[in-house]
Amino acid sequence: MNELIAETLIEHDDAATAATRMHQDHEEFLVSPAEENTWQFRLHYGSISMELRDRRLKIRVFAADETCLSYMKMDVAHHMQEYLGSTEGISWSGDGNTSTVPVFFREITVVSSERITPHMQRLRFSAENIARFAVGGFHVRILIPPQGRTPVWPTVSGDGLLNWPQGEDALTVRIYTIRSIDVERGLFDIDFVLHPGLETPAALFAQTAQSGDVIGMIGPGGENVPEAANVMLFGDDTALPAISRMLDNLPEDRRAEVYIEVNGPEDVQALPAKNASLRWLFRAGRPAGTTGLLSETLRKIDPSTLPEDIYVWAGCEFSDFKEIRKIVRKEWGIPKERQLVVAYWRRGAEGDEARKEAA
Ligand SMILES: Cc1cc2nc3c(=O)[nH]c(=O)nc-3n(C[C@H](O)[C@H](O)[C@H](O)COP(=O)(O)OP(=O)(O)OC[C@H]3O[C@@H](n4cnc5c(N)ncnc54)[C@H](O)[C@@H]3O)c2cc1C
Repeated sequence: MNELIAETLIEHDDAATAATRMHQDHEEFLVSPAEENTWQFRLHYGSISMELRDRRLKIRVFAADETCLSYMKMDVAHHMQEYLGSTEGISWSGDGNTSTVPVFFREITVVSSERITPHMQRLRFSAENIARFAVGGFHVRILIPPQGRTPVWPTVSGDGLLNWPQGEDALTVRIYTIRSIDVERGLFDIDFVLHPGLETPAALFAQTAQSGDVIGMIGPGGENVPEAANVMLFGDDTALPAISRMLDNLPEDRRAEVYIEVNGPEDVQALPAKNASLRWLFRAGRPAGTTGLLSETLRKIDPSTLPEDIYVWAGCEFSDFKEIRKIVRKEWGIPKERQLVVAYWRRGAEGDEARKEAA
């Protein structure tokens, strides 16, 4: 695939400070060796090169497609905003969409709604041009507009940042997983856990959605199938769609051992299990995120019996996430490149708040 390139030139008295902070804060992404006053970073969605001459900082971003290029522009703009106090002077030229509609945004329409198990609602959505959402990560952010108002969607400005509607038009943003996608028919499914809580905008939306309802979506991003011959997957109901997607896409020569926590046998789903062993753990009426069932299961495993190349993945509530990460990293000593433990939600916290301390 051809590489896309965009660039911007920032002239600022603090350009040298911004360049220093950028490479010091992100040492792990630096590609060495760097020439004097030039730096190159390789990231998940593309790469960045930065060249400092006096008070001029030339930044170029490189990516395989427009979505990733937009993510890279946004990433640079966020950092410059932090280091220079604003994005003034950032104006991208070169490749990439010049429209104010972000290339990674879609308006999506509910086609059907089905209760697939007592605590899981499957919404089928239709949208135009969704091929890009079938690759490059399973997750999206859904944007729920305020009830009864015509939606106002985010736009992208010349510096690469999103402008979010404010006040009465503010959107509720939540992360979900595309459970399955049919690019040709322009349809995809998202499975929503129907969980308790006083205000639960996404769960409530799922419970009450009607065919024809319109919300927004940006993405995709995040996880793919772990690149390892042997994987262990741990998750609660919120991670069930991601685990299902991983199993769907698991090549035949790989094996997965899977542990999923749900309320009870009535919440068990049929998952692709050709080359996987599945075990279900039941909360039996105890509130989600309080049982420690997943970490208890990990503790029963003797790490010396695991294949050398094991990859451990987990998606769950914040306190489970902390415990599982401790076991995997500290007690089992699995290297960083062979594990990913993610907080999908946090008791008492809404949306992205759940992941504030989870980095
Ligand atoms: C990468 C990623 C992928 C995800 N994929 C999915 C998915 O495919 N399906 C899915 O259902 N969820 C998924 N989640 C989790 C989902 O984003 C959160 O559960 C989210 O908080 C739900 O939003 P809400 O508006 O319903 O509730 P919020 O407004 O965020 O929270 C309101 C209250 O509900 C509680 N709460 C939130 N989620 C749960 C829960 N599951 N059980 C019990 N209490 C809860 C909160 O602690 C809070 O007290 C994913 C999260 C991440 C990070």
